[in-house]
Amino acid sequence: MVDKRKYADRREELIKAVAKRRRKVKTLAIEYKGGKCQICGYHKYQGAMDLHHITGNKKFGIGEKGYTRSWKKIKEELDKCILVCANCHREIEGGVTQLPGVIRVEKSG
Ligand SMILES: [Zn+2]
Repeated sequence: MVDKRKYADRREELIKAVAKRRRKVKTLAIEYKGGKCQICGYHKYQGAMDLHHITGNKKFGIGEKGYTRSWKKIKEELDKCILVCANCHREIEGGVTQLPGVIRVEKSG
């Protein structure tokens, strides 16, 4: 058997590395989607930014396992999402806010 203590240390390192990568990917995802809420323009805190699937096909959960996929795959999924803040996201889900049609993200560079 392997030394359990060492395994535990290593495991913690791996968890941290994955968490770090997830944050990094979320940052990239947000940048890719224009950097701000596509409804109200909110951009203060990345932790309050959500990706809302416009296709209704929810096989991809950004913030979950999806982040371990390749960036290419992530981009394919991002193209089916809009970037909104948590507040607007709840409003969309609650039917208070209408999605502004198909949003085209203008890419700057
Ligand atoms: Zn918003």
